[in-house]
Amino acid sequence: MSEDEALKTFRRDIADWIEQHYPSELRQTPGADGSDPQQTKTSEQNWLQIMAEQGLLAPTWPKEYGGAGFSVDQARVLAQEQRRAKVRAIPISAGLSLLGPVLLEHGTPEQKQQHLPGIANGAVFWCQGYSEPGSGSDLASLSTRAELVGDDFIVNGQKIWTSHADDADWMFCLVRTDPNASKHEGISFLLIDMATPGISVSPIRLISGPSAFCQTFFDDVRVGKANLMGQLGQGWTLAKQLLQHERQALGSIGRGDARRALTLPELAALEIGTNAQGHIADVTIRNEVAQCELDSLALRTTMSRSADQARAGQNSAHIASMLKLYGSELTNRRHELMMSIRGTDGVGWDGPGYSPAAMRTTRQWLRAKGNSIEGGTNEIQRNVIAKRVLGLPD
Ligand SMILES: Cc1cc2nc3c(=O)[nH]c(=O)nc-3n(C[C@H](O)[C@H](O)[C@H](O)COP(=O)(O)OP(=O)(O)OC[C@H]3O[C@@H](n4cnc5c(N)ncnc54)[C@H](O)[C@@H]3O)c2cc1C
Repeated sequence: MSEDEALKTFRRDIADWIEQHYPSELRQTPGADGSDPQQTKTSEQNWLQIMAEQGLLAPTWPKEYGGAGFSVDQARVLAQEQRRAKVRAIPISAGLSLLGPVLLEHGTPEQKQQHLPGIANGAVFWCQGYSEPGSGSDLASLSTRAELVGDDFIVNGQKIWTSHADDADWMFCLVRTDPNASKHEGISFLLIDMATPGISVSPIRLISGPSAFCQTFFDDVRVGKANLMGQLGQGWTLAKQLLQHERQALGSIGRGDARRALTLPELAALEIGTNAQGHIADVTIRNEVAQCELDSLALRTTMSRSADQARAGQNSAHIASMLKLYGSELTNRRHELMMSIRGTDGVGWDGPGYSPAAMRTTRQWLRAKGNSIEGGTNEIQRNVIAKRVLGLPD
């Protein structure tokens, strides 16, 4: 059987499996009027569990670490079939999308055995301890201190903007282990159990109400040296590698995959109506929707070319910055457009008279604003592209 035939069979099997197992209650429009948010959340968790049991949350990871052991081509087929079946994109932990790939490459055998299965089955929730007050864009200036005393690091300092730290079981964390080394060389990468005495987490309330953001404080926190990932003082290399995964993931949101019951053209047709030819009735909105769809297609094509180049070992280390910049701007453009399409419903927030579907559009529009900041701001990505890709002077 040729590779193509094997993949075709694989594709059919995957499509059948999704058809059989994807919960029917998730097939309706997210946030549709009449849908119960609590029930939806439970169904989404059940679906994640069903996926995890087959290793499908981490399809390319080895089976011994809870993955499915798929080849890159098989993983691509899985993603395509999920998109085709409009399987919802459910937020996954930073452990799966960010830490996992770096842990697979740089973790000790014990660290991999301890952490990867819990990440792959979604049982252990991770947060990212990078940013500090005063060290965001200039991350390498971070000052959370970790001093090696016997077999333990003693950690003192503060992190900020730690998304979901109040729900997290573990944190991957950048700490300064050598204050005398140059700023990039004195940093190490620690895996920290959030239940360790001396850690306190304080959620941050925003102008819009409660948020996922937290401040995390370390007060003489003892972390065994077995939890150091990579070499002492070499954490910056791992940190940068992880940021590339983060930037790539943020860029991929811009593809606008149809992983929701209503695509942008469908929403426009529903809200605005169609003309006799079945086209979106408002010509300006129609043009903007078409442009957005074309740009998403171009981004998808660029991402798959970049994946091919990565497999051939030809990728620029800075492609992630380009994808993050373009993808996050495209996401924001798409959400602006969805708001225009919703018209006055789009400015709704809460209370009687607002439909859950319209509120969801508003919340997503607001959330998308953060895409241009998280994972390194878009200004920083522009700097990276200017210096490292275009070779422009400082
Ligand atoms: C939704 C969201 C989730 C996040 N989750 C996490 C998390 O889980 N863990 C974590 O550690 N962090 C997290 N962050 C924090 C994020 O990494 C930082 O906000 C980001 O790196 C910017 O740092 P800062 O907020 O300190 O801004 P600053 O670095 O103070 O920047 C302020 C402004 O100045 C600009 N600027 C700064 N330096 C330059 C320069 N050299 N050239 C041009 N412009 C510049 C920036 O672009 C920005 O507009 C999250 C942020 C968001 C929005």
